[in-house]
Amino acid sequence: MQDLAAALAELEGQGLRRRRRTLESAQGAHVRVDGRDYLSFCSNDYLGLAAHPALIAAVQEAAANHGVGAGASHLVNGHHALHARLEAELAAFVGLPAALLFSTGYMANLGVVTALVGRGDAVFADRLNHASLVDACLLARAEHVRYPHGDLAVLEKRLAASTARHKLIVSDAVFSMDGDVAPLAGLLDLAQRHDAWLLLDDAHGFGVLGGRGQGTLALLDRSLPERLVYMATLGKAAGVAGAFVAGSQALIEWLVNKARTYVYTTAAPPLLAAALSASLQLIVGEPWRRERLREWIACLKAGMAGLPWALMPSETPIQPLLVGDHREALRLAEGLRERGILIPAIRPPTVPQGTARLRISLSAAHTATDVERLVTALRDLAA
Ligand SMILES: *Cc1c(COP(=O)(O)O)cnc(C)c1O
Repeated sequence: MQDLAAALAELEGQGLRRRRRTLESAQGAHVRVDGRDYLSFCSNDYLGLAAHPALIAAVQEAAANHGVGAGASHLVNGHHALHARLEAELAAFVGLPAALLFSTGYMANLGVVTALVGRGDAVFADRLNHASLVDACLLARAEHVRYPHGDLAVLEKRLAASTARHKLIVSDAVFSMDGDVAPLAGLLDLAQRHDAWLLLDDAHGFGVLGGRGQGTLALLDRSLPERLVYMATLGKAAGVAGAFVAGSQALIEWLVNKARTYVYTTAAPPLLAAALSASLQLIVGEPWRRERLREWIACLKAGMAGLPWALMPSETPIQPLLVGDHREALRLAEGLRERGILIPAIRPPTVPQGTARLRISLSAAHTATDVERLVTALRDLAA
C-alpha cells in the first residue's frame, strides 16, 4: 500500500495524476459536470446520437419486449435475434461478407489479434496505435514489430526482413489522438505483397467518413483483399456501446470459435443492438450530421489562425491543438474550464513526451455559436 501511495504522489508531482469528473447529464455538446454546466468538446459522440430520442425509444421497446440482460454468452444461448439482425446490417453497410459483435472495442482488438497470431508469428504495428492494439499484440505473444507513424518504407523493410510464419499488420484507420487517416492504399498494397493480414481499427472513422458514414474503407476505390479485417467501435459516432469486426465468412467463423473475448464473456444486452440498429438508420439517413461536422472543422481551423498553438493536420472531428509541455496543456485546459468549456488535456503516456495537446472533438450536436465560443476563449487565453 505504501508503494502505491508513493507512486501516486510521484505522478501528482509530475503533473501526470489522472482524476475523473462526474457527468450528471446525458452526453452531449452541453453537459453538467460536478455541479456546473459546460460546453463540451470532450466526447467521441461525433454525430450527436448518444441521447437521440430514436435510440431511447428503441431501447425502451426492446427492454419491454426482450428484457434487459442477455443472460449467457453468444455460444451458450445469449445470441439474440436483435444481435443477429444488427450483424447482418453492419456487414451490408460496410460492404463486407460478414460481421461479428463484441462488447467493446478493446475486447474486439484483443480477440482478433490473439485469434490470428501467436508464438512464431509477427505483428507489424504503427507506433501511434491505440493502447488496445498494443495490449492485443503483447497478449498474442507474437513478435511485436513497431514502425514509425505512417512510415510505409520502414514497414516494407520490416515485412521483407521477417521470417515469421504468419504476418499481421495492425493500424488505427483514423488515429485516436492525432485525427489523421492511415495510408490505407499503401497498407493494403504491402499486406498483399507480403502475404500478410491487415487489421484496420476504424473506431473514429465509422459513422463519420464516407458519403453514407460507412467509414474509412469508403475512401478506397478498389476491391478489398480477403485478408482484410475491419474493426469499428459502436460507442463513439454510433452513440451506443460495443464494437464489431467485419471480413470474410471464414474469418468470422474462426473468430466465433477462437476469439476468447467473444467466447468467454456474456453477450451484451440485446437492447443495445436495438439501439444500434436505430443509430445505423440515422447515420445513413441524416447526412447533414456529417456536413455539419465538416463545417465546424473549417470554422475552427479559420478561427485558430495566428494563435501560438497550432491545430494538428486533421480532416476529421478530432482536432488536436498541439501545446507540447504537459503542464502548459493542463494550464490551458484549466483556463478553458474556468470559462465554462471542457476539453481534455492529453498527456504522456497516452501521447509521446513533449506532445501534450488539447484534444478538441467536434460534434454535429455543436452549433456555430458553440464553436465561436471556443475560438474566442482560446484567443483570450493566448493574449
Ligand atoms: C476507443 C477506441 C478503442 C476501444 O473501443 P471501446 O469500445 O471504447 O473499448 C479501440 N481502438 C481505438 C482506435 C479507439 O479509439
